[in-house]
Amino acid sequence: MNITLHGVAIGGGIAIGRAHLISRSMDDVAHYGLEEKDIPAEMARFDEAVRATRKELEMLWGSIPENAPAELGAFLSLHIMLLGDVTISREPREIIEKQHCNAEWALKLQCDLLVEQFDAIEEDYLRERKNDVLQVVERIFKNLDGHTPQLPAPGDLLDDTILVAHDLSPADMVYFKDSSFAAFVTDVGGATSHTAILGRSLDLPSVIALHHARELIREEEQIIVDGQQGVLIINPDELVLSEYRRRQRAWRDAKRKLSSIRKSDAKTKDGTVIELLANIELPQDVEVVKGSGAAGVGLFRSEFLFLGRDTLPTEDEQFEAYRKVAEDMKGLPVTIRTMDLGADKNPKWLNHDVADNPALGLTGIRLCLAEPLMFRAQLRALLRASHYGKVKILFPMLNSLGELKQSIAQLDYAKQELHAEGLPFDEKVEVGAMIEIPSAALVVGSFIKYVDFLSIGTNDLIQYTLAIDRNDDSVSHLYDPVHPAVLKLILHTIRTGIKGGVPVSVCGEMAGDPRLTRLLLGMGLRKFSMHPASLLSVKRMVLNTHLDDIAPIAGRMLRSEDPDKIADLLQLLNAEPDA
Ligand code: PEP
Ligand code: MG
Repeated sequence: MNITLHGVAIGGGIAIGRAHLISRSMDDVAHYGLEEKDIPAEMARFDEAVRATRKELEMLWGSIPENAPAELGAFLSLHIMLLGDVTISREPREIIEKQHCNAEWALKLQCDLLVEQFDAIEEDYLRERKNDVLQVVERIFKNLDGHTPQLPAPGDLLDDTILVAHDLSPADMVYFKDSSFAAFVTDVGGATSHTAILGRSLDLPSVIALHHARELIREEEQIIVDGQQGVLIINPDELVLSEYRRRQRAWRDAKRKLSSIRKSDAKTKDGTVIELLANIELPQDVEVVKGSGAAGVGLFRSEFLFLGRDTLPTEDEQFEAYRKVAEDMKGLPVTIRTMDLGADKNPKWLNHDVADNPALGLTGIRLCLAEPLMFRAQLRALLRASHYGKVKILFPMLNSLGELKQSIAQLDYAKQELHAEGLPFDEKVEVGAMIEIPSAALVVGSFIKYVDFLSIGTNDLIQYTLAIDRNDDSVSHLYDPVHPAVLKLILHTIRTGIKGGVPVSVCGEMAGDPRLTRLLLGMGLRKFSMHPASLLSVKRMVLNTHLDDIAPIAGRMLRSEDPDKIADLLQLLNAEPDA
C-alpha cells in the first residue's frame, strides 16, 4: 500500500531505493539486546564513558581563566557532582544488567526518569537544574560514542540507499559527503538550514521536515523520494512506481539537455555579462565546480573544515586546504569566508555550551573576535594561500562597522607577522563583508571604504529580518525571500555597492533559485554564487532574459508592499516568452 508524506523539497530530482534508518539524537537512541556474556563488557564501557566525562569536566574546571565569572566554576562543580551521583553513574549500570540492553539505551531510560522527576519539582531554581542533568548525560553519550557509530560507515552505503533520519547535523553531512547513496530524507529542518544547503550541494534528491518519516519507514523498505515536489512515498505499488520511473527519466533527460549550455558565456540577451560562481564546503567540491562551468568560487564555507573532528585544525592544515582550492581553481577567484561557527555548527573541540538562542549567540565573526588566536591562525593560513591563487577573504555575520574594523585589524596584524617571518602572500588580497544581518544592510554605506566587495547572505538576512529560525520547520512557511522588507534590504545593499564602486554578490540560497534570477537581475545584481547543481538552471534564465524587458516589472515589484501583488508580479516576470 502506498503511504505518502509531504515535506520541504530540497531538490535534486527523483530517487527510488531502499531505506536505511539512522539513529542519532538522544530522542532517537539505538536499542539492542545483549547476551549474558556481553553484559560485563557493556557495563565496563559505560564506566569508561563516565570516567572520561569526569576527566573532561575536571580538566575544564582546572582551566577556568582567573577573570571568568564565578558562576562558571560553580556550574562545573555542579556537573562534576551530578556525575558522581548514583542516579547517573550507577543506576544505568543496573539497567544494563537487569534489562540486558546496550549502555546508550540504559542511559536514555535513566535520563527520561530523571527529567520526569525534575519536571515535577515546583521550585523554579531546582526544576531548571534538569538542564544540567541533560548536559552531563549528553557528555556521557558522546563518550560512549553513542552518536557516531550509529551512522553507517560511508563505504557500507549502496547506490540505491536512501538515508532516513530524524535529523542530520552539518557535521553528519560532512561525514557522508564522500559516499555514494541515492537520497536522504529527515523529519525536521528548515529550507535554508545547513542540512538543506548541504543536501543541495550533494545534488541528491532530498526532502526534509517530513515529521514522522523515521517512525513510519522500516529498514530496507522501498521508498520514492521526489525532491522536486517534496513528496515521499513508502511501499509504492506497481502503478505508482512506473509513473515515478517515467518522471525520473524525464528529469534525467532535462538535466542532460541543460548541460548543453555549460560552456556558453553567461550573458543576458542584451549582452550584459553576469558572473555565476559556486558555493563549496570542502576542498574536494572543486571538482564539481569545474564541471559546472562556474567562473570561480564565490563562497567557500571554511567552517566545514572545522566540523566532524576532535581537534582544531592547525594553521598548516588549513593552509594546505585553502592552497589546494586556490591552485585547483587555476587563477579563477576563490572567496573564502572565515569560519562561521556557532548556531547549528558546533565542532566537538569548541567547549562552548549551547546557548538558549544560539542563532543570536556567539557565532561567526563574534566568535572569531572573541578567540583572536584561533582567528589569526585562520587569517595567516588564508594569507599564505593567497600566494598560490586568487584568494579573497570574506567576513561573515558582521553587525556593525566596529566589527568590520576589528576584523581588518586582525588581518593587518596577521600580515605584519607574515612580513616579519618572510612568508609570502598577496599584498593586494581583496577583503569583503557579508551582509546577512539587517543592521549591517542598513549601515552598509559605512562599510564601503573598507572593503573590496560585498556578499549578501540571504539565508541569514531572511532569518533575522523576518524573525524565523531557519532550522525550524514549524516556521518554514514564513520563509519568504520576496517579503518587501527583505527586498528593500537587498536593494539598498546592491545600490550602495554600485554607487560606491564595490561589486556585490548574493551567495545565499536565493542566488541558486532560478525563479528569483530575473528579480535579482532587475535589482541590479550581476554576481550570483550558488551550489553548483543550480548553476545551469540559473544560467538558462540569464540567457533568456533581456534586461530592458524585465526592468518595469521588477521596478513595480520593488515598489510594492503587498505580498499578493508581489507574488503576481513575480509570476509575470518569469512568464514566457523569454523563460
Ligand atoms: C547566508 O546566510 O545566506 C549564507 C550564505 O551563509 P550560511 O548559509 O552559511 O549561513
Ligand atoms: Mg549566513
